[in-house]
Amino acid sequence: MVKTVLDAFCIKSGILCRKCQEKIEKGQITDLDLRIIRLLSDLEKENPTLQDVTYHRAVEADGNLVVLVDRRDLGRMLSGGAKTVHAISDTLGKKVKILGHGGDDRQFLEDLFSPMSILTLNTIWIPDGSTETKVILTGRQPKRMPVDLDATKKLAKQLRNMTLRIEFEKT
Ligand SMILES: [Zn+2]
Repeated sequence: MVKTVLDAFCIKSGILCRKCQEKIEKGQITDLDLRIIRLLSDLEKENPTLQDVTYHRAVEADGNLVVLVDRRDLGRMLSGGAKTVHAISDTLGKKVKILGHGGDDRQFLEDLFSPMSILTLNTIWIPDGSTETKVILTGRQPKRMPVDLDATKKLAKQLRNMTLRIEFEKT
């Protein structure tokens, strides 16, 4: 059974105990998480390797979904011709990216912007004491963007509370 903060039994039965219910009320697990956890536990029947996956959380912005699992489980999530990714994408009607939980900001942003690559990252200090992260992507802005930049900004805010400024190496 996919590992989450919820009890395996509660996910399977669909009837949550008080402890699991509290985690939902506190927002530790969202409805979106619950949908994905249930879907993953269904997909386990066809792809038993998913049983070992540790699920962290999912966030969504403008139809782009990021699912965070343990970094060591990325291979499991992508096994079998990325069937799992397609199943999540088809069921929820969103573009799906699977990312490893944890890691430093650079690694997080590289994964988030992939397949685009980052040239440099700079921290900008704002007079009010907050910071923004300037991301310079390599090359010129492509006509057809492989990544939705506005959605990426929102996802970085939700996942790491980072405010991004995105630029390209060449203008
Ligand atoms: Zn429970």
